[in-house]
Amino acid sequence: MSDDNIFTDEEYRELFVDVEPLTEQRRRRVPAWLSVLGVLLAVAMLAGYFGDLVTGIQTSPSIREPADIRAFALDEIASSPWGWLASDVVVRDLEEPRVGAYVTNAPPDGIITVDLRPWNEDRLDELIDHELGHLVDFAVWGLRGDSPEGRRGGLRSEAWAECSAVGAGTRRVDQRDPDTEYHCFANEFEVWEQTMSAIDEICRPWGPPECRPVTLN
Ligand SMILES: [Zn+2]
Repeated sequence: MSDDNIFTDEEYRELFVDVEPLTEQRRRRVPAWLSVLGVLLAVAMLAGYFGDLVTGIQTSPSIREPADIRAFALDEIASSPWGWLASDVVVRDLEEPRVGAYVTNAPPDGIITVDLRPWNEDRLDELIDHELGHLVDFAVWGLRGDSPEGRRGGLRSEAWAECSAVGAGTRRVDQRDPDTEYHCFANEFEVWEQTMSAIDEICRPWGPPECRPVTLN
């Protein structure tokens, strides 16, 4: 019986709140690309790579309206083998600047809440796949504690979700330590793959009851 945005401390700990990785923030703070863009443009045009550069520019944050963010997220959900676990996408201002999205396990409802901010297409795809990874976790292992033996193959919650995004094809494995809990190293991805392939079917504990066999991309 909790109001929309009011959680007890315990409930709050059950929320899987996803912050922007620090590396991402650092990258955004560096304004150097702005100053060299003009030079790059000229060089690229001379070299005939204008098309590639345009593609690069299009990946800057371009999804801004709540309805567009929701529609884009729903597209990614529709293309994911685990998208059926999401019951809805809600877009609203999450106020805390570092929080990009969350799903809750208290109680689990399958709703993905995304922060209202300009999103880059690739980043939003990756984020949605990350949240779907949490929903797989909730659906398979339910409300049991954060990391009892066997849950998520022993991976930490955020590593599991990051590796789910790798499995969905919207993220790469980390070659270097990103220095946050939001990592998926090659050995972690192997654990994710092995754990997922050992699951026969996933049943959704929220919304209309449904079970589906596990499919890996
Ligand atoms: Zn997460």
